[in-house]
Amino acid sequence: MPATLPITPIEIRTGKVWNPATGEVRAEIPFATTAEIDQTIAAAKKAFPEWRATPLSRRAETMFRLRELVDANRRALAELITLEHGKTISDAMGEVARGLENIEFACGIPQLLKGGFSEQASRGVDVYQIRQPLGVVAGITPFNFPAMVPLWMFPNALACGNAFILKPSEKDPSPSLFLADLVRRAGVPDGVFHVVQGDREAVDYLLQHPDIAAISFVGSTPVARAIYEAGTRHGKRVQALGGAKNHMVVLPDADIEMAADAAVSAAFGSAGERCMAISVLVAVDTAADPLIAAIEKRMKRIGVGPGLEPDSEMGPLITREHRDRVASYLDSAAREGATVTVDGREHPAAKRPGFFLGTSLIDNVRPGMSCYDDEIFGPVLNVVRAATYAEAMDLIKANPYANGVALFTRDGGAARQFQFDVEVGMVGINVPIPVPVSYYSFGGWKSSLFGDLHMYGPEGVQFYTRAKLVTSRWPDPGTSSVNLGFPQTR
Ligand code: NAD
Repeated sequence: MPATLPITPIEIRTGKVWNPATGEVRAEIPFATTAEIDQTIAAAKKAFPEWRATPLSRRAETMFRLRELVDANRRALAELITLEHGKTISDAMGEVARGLENIEFACGIPQLLKGGFSEQASRGVDVYQIRQPLGVVAGITPFNFPAMVPLWMFPNALACGNAFILKPSEKDPSPSLFLADLVRRAGVPDGVFHVVQGDREAVDYLLQHPDIAAISFVGSTPVARAIYEAGTRHGKRVQALGGAKNHMVVLPDADIEMAADAAVSAAFGSAGERCMAISVLVAVDTAADPLIAAIEKRMKRIGVGPGLEPDSEMGPLITREHRDRVASYLDSAAREGATVTVDGREHPAAKRPGFFLGTSLIDNVRPGMSCYDDEIFGPVLNVVRAATYAEAMDLIKANPYANGVALFTRDGGAARQFQFDVEVGMVGINVPIPVPVSYYSFGGWKSSLFGDLHMYGPEGVQFYTRAKLVTSRWPDPGTSSVNLGFPQTR
């Protein structure tokens, strides 16, 4: 290793993995040491040239096999997600299904890597662009989608011909290991795909390692910003997706019952631990009172319990500390002048041994209150009452996050104006969680994404490859001569 590395060696450490539904430790995982990460990167670097030289059709075939294997193991993977993350099994099955779509996209890699060709750019000269893999690339992923977010990254990265090192969240690391086994069984050669366990120390080490060409990151905004800055300082290509505060605007003409269904689903699904969860409901003018009544009615009926139990619609939060942090916003909201109309701490499930909290609703929220300003990442829905559409738009514009947003209305003209005006990366019109399908790309604006390229889909392929331009001439030896002038095209 170069002597310039500033990092102190990572000592032998382990991390506890909890079952959030019981509050018990499920496993203790060993974190990778510096020597182990070095060995992993070296193995990936060694495997890269052969993988890169593997024909496109063969790499595509491997992705088809991976698709079949993940499909055949949906339930087992989903159960693992539920055990370590806590989300309900149906939600975990949904996560696997959306992840699978990213493998399906990567199956089309021969088509996706077609370059451009300009014949006769000059007399007897052709110009063409080819896209080549970067080398060894790393993915650092959050706890909230322990299978889907890795699948946003590595199928495209591998299909493009890169070697990939995945550093999953230390809170729910097993789905990554499960996927790694499927990747191996799909026929990806040894050394091309690795999972490295660890926390911040492992990330810091990867960030400065000279043999890592690019970093894909998904997580909270402060970490995303720091990773973007450190990674680019070390000369790496970085895409770093951060946190969110997603607003759902409901206009007075909207179908209130439909909007209430959508708000409840999008705010409390996965216990609000989704970067596309709705956390602020902006009720415009007369929409507010009927909408809040309809939402409260639905909140009473949500089954809160362990994710593997069939009646559970919402599981626990990821850790005890996170549950307590989420609950603390109910106190601060009341202190700061908002009205807590439903307090999740009073839900019977909150007394269970796991990290449970019922759903909460906070009315009369304003910017400047912590429950509005911070990303809570839990089952808490804030309601801001806005007098006009313009006031709702000003709120969204002023917010530092810009991941997702939704508008509920029956007015096509208003919807079109909204999509034109709103400064947010992913927009839903009567759709509360507008996660793009795998053949588009995912990414917010402002503090929700650092870097130029969004994740997965066509921009994912762009991220994991670099363009090479070739200008080529096959002259007739009979016409060859010395010419010191600058090459001309005409
Ligand atoms: P996190 O930022 O705490 O951790 C994400 C990853 O970074 C983990 O692998 C973790 O080990 C590592 N990490 C944590 N602290 C670090 C540090 N100081 N330096 C270097 N690495 C560090 O995020 P989380 O709690 O696992 O996930 C929830 C967050 O992720 C929320 O903010 C959510 O909005 C966001 N998220 C965003 C998207 C998106 O697409 N924009 C998707 C999912 C989750």
